[in-house]
Amino acid sequence: MSLYLRQMEIGPMRNFVYLVGDAEKKQCWIVDPAWEIEKALQQAEQDGLDVAGVLLTHAHYDHCNALETLLGQKNIPVYVHKREIETAQRKMGTGLFGHLPKDHLKPVESGDKIALGSTELTFLHTPGHTPGSQCFLVSDRLLTGDTLFIGTCGRCDLPGGSPADLFESLHGKIAKLPGTTSLLPGHNYSDRGPTHTIEEEMTSNRFLQAKSVDDFLRLVGL
Ligand SMILES: [Zn+2]
Ligand SMILES: [Zn+2]
Repeated sequence: MSLYLRQMEIGPMRNFVYLVGDAEKKQCWIVDPAWEIEKALQQAEQDGLDVAGVLLTHAHYDHCNALETLLGQKNIPVYVHKREIETAQRKMGTGLFGHLPKDHLKPVESGDKIALGSTELTFLHTPGHTPGSQCFLVSDRLLTGDTLFIGTCGRCDLPGGSPADLFESLHGKIAKLPGTTSLLPGHNYSDRGPTHTIEEEMTSNRFLQAKSVDDFLRLVGL
């Protein structure tokens, strides 16, 4: 097991950009390339790792606004949930991803896996914040994008959001993972530190304590 993981707070919206990969293989993926992406690339270089691909939790601007810049420098695949690609295409004609060279885009589904060396990553579809939001499970860490933060959860009142889907993603999927799984969110919204375990969140995050969709709807104010 030679997991490599870096969490970096970048940009004006307290986004976390991650480097995840394999220290032995000396390769990593970059998660949600946005804002001053050079900082993340410098970190990878300093650590002696090549960036081998991009993983998008979802297609909001604050999670992918450096994608074109990055692809201008590196010829690497971009893993996006297929529903996020379809949604972007419906909304914007050619789509948010329409301008990317076609062979860059790798649509993925829940349960798909990719690996670098001995580090394996599993895609977990967690709709609700957006239709194609996804989390990434690597060993005992879960990168949650804007689905779940420390102490709160993602908004579901934006276009494409669905409170019922988010409830199911949080309770039917994330809460079913081992309690010792560490959560690594897409924004640094908590003053309680940058990561927590699922167990800790189950006792302190009221959005994970909702017992029903109706409960959840009341909590999110919808
Ligand atoms: Zn978002
Ligand atoms: Zn965000």
